[in-house]
Amino acid sequence: MRKQLEALIFELSSPGRKAFTLPGLDVPETDLPESYTRDQPNLPEVSELDFVRHYTHLSQMNFSIDTVFYPLGSCTMKYNPKVNERAASIEGLTHVHPLQPEATVQGSLELMYKLQEALKEISGFSAISLQPAAGAHGEFAGVLIMRAYHESRGDEKRTKILIPDSAHGTNPASSAMSGFSVVEIPSDERGNVDLEALKQECDSTVVGLMLTNPNTLGLFEEQVLEVCETIHACGGLVYGDGANLNALLGITKPADQGIDVMHFNLHKTFTTPHGGGGPGCGPVGVTEELAPFLPGPYSINEGDTYRLDMPEKSIGRLKSFCGNYGMFIRAYTYIRMMGPDGLRSVAENAVLNANYLKAKVSPFFPVAVDRTCMHEFVSHGDVPGTDVIALDVAKRLLDYGHHSPTNYFPLIVHDALMIEPTETESKETLDNFAEALEKIHQEAHEEPELLHSAPHITPVYRLDEATAARKPVLCYKG
Ligand SMILES: *Cc1c(COP(=O)(O)O)cnc(C)c1O
Repeated sequence: MRKQLEALIFELSSPGRKAFTLPGLDVPETDLPESYTRDQPNLPEVSELDFVRHYTHLSQMNFSIDTVFYPLGSCTMKYNPKVNERAASIEGLTHVHPLQPEATVQGSLELMYKLQEALKEISGFSAISLQPAAGAHGEFAGVLIMRAYHESRGDEKRTKILIPDSAHGTNPASSAMSGFSVVEIPSDERGNVDLEALKQECDSTVVGLMLTNPNTLGLFEEQVLEVCETIHACGGLVYGDGANLNALLGITKPADQGIDVMHFNLHKTFTTPHGGGGPGCGPVGVTEELAPFLPGPYSINEGDTYRLDMPEKSIGRLKSFCGNYGMFIRAYTYIRMMGPDGLRSVAENAVLNANYLKAKVSPFFPVAVDRTCMHEFVSHGDVPGTDVIALDVAKRLLDYGHHSPTNYFPLIVHDALMIEPTETESKETLDNFAEALEKIHQEAHEEPELLHSAPHITPVYRLDEATAARKPVLCYKG
């Protein structure tokens, strides 16, 4: 199998073979200008069949949601319904030019408007901008909005952003990129923000707090109302990291908890594809007070017509034109297909699946904080009494045909395995995964070498992931 996959298309190349058939020429033949032919790329010459096999093989070398269980914690790798793709390829939407007159793209603007309205209803916020291209981009927008708000009040002594130690790394990065300093707030033994430690940092220099609820331990912040009140009492704002919204859909609204500004991850919660750094969408929602600062343009409705508008004191544009429009279509399709009751059942089943799996997995890999979890839970992935660590377990899971959980995040859990099954998985799949973990736990005691050398069935073994990301080798060097 491995050998076959390595039969790279270049090695199959033979001069004169081709994978295309062009129609007969209906214009006079001429030579190409020299500048077009000078640096001839070294392209393989193969038949259409070899070409098809090459790309089909490549597509099978990766793990994907459409092929295997993908419990990558915090990423909400749920099923992406194919009807979303169907909608996103409707010609009336895909063939629109971004500079077309508004009168000719009313349907596109209406879809944006209705998606904004749906996200408002789901979150409780007063206004939404669909501009940001990812969650981290939405965070950056949110922090700039907080900065613009304080500046508009002449309140310029605020310089620090409070961030719980369980937060995603993008939170401190977004704060630092906006020119603020970051103060870390510890978690208490129940996995909540330590309220006493938070109070000690609350003063007139606080820009705001960045809060993830449920947090990255998969736990609902039990004192969320008091946390938000504490921040507001010192004149700060609360930023909500909405990556974990899947657990709350239709049950509670972030704005009701006291959050002032939040990003959504359409590519997590609302089934637009996620992964590989591909196009995402991280809309921001805000309270009425912060609405004038939103990035723009957004779509507004006047009688029977829709048009793009820039909020009054906007922080500006963050993305070309309207943002990643294809994602708007997919998320809107999903929201309308599910309806309000469907969305609520998403959250209920995501939480049920996570608690079911937690009960099956925790006898072997104990959870970090043992409370009823929301949509995910975090286990210790090492096996005491052996030299097996979480990374070995994660890699061995690939041999059993499952994508591995998130590894070594959140940072506050030793040897973390962060497991998020999502609502779209069947009981059989969850049982199968739990069984694999039980077997791996047994292997750790009996045959630890098997784990240290895993994975055994993938096209490549253990990559140096940092180098692979920073210095990718993308060209064939035969
Ligand atoms: C995924 C995630 C983010 C960042 O979102 P991207 O779309 O990947 O930029 C932020 N916070 C948490 C908790 C996340 O899980």
